[in-house]
Amino acid sequence: MNINLIYTALRPSQTAVVHANDDGTYTILVNSNKSKQKQIKGVLHELQHINNDDFYTELQADIIERILHNQQLKEDLDHINFYYHVI
Ligand SMILES: [Zn+2]
Repeated sequence: MNINLIYTALRPSQTAVVHANDDGTYTILVNSNKSKQKQIKGVLHELQHINNDDFYTELQADIIERILHNQQLKEDLDHINFYYHVI
């Protein structure tokens, strides 16, 4: 799995946002204005969305969020290639 991490300024309410790309990779935008601890938490949260394939579910976003916040990250991070970009 390939994931692009892009550090850039996002809205203050956002820590990280994930996007599923057409080529099967993922892009996670990370808010460069947040603390490192919050950035890591945000990225892990978005990884859960990827792991759960939330992009293709009919479930409403707020329901997904509530389920996610009660789960532990099961994905083995060794299997993910991270590509860092700072904008
Ligand atoms: Zn989320």
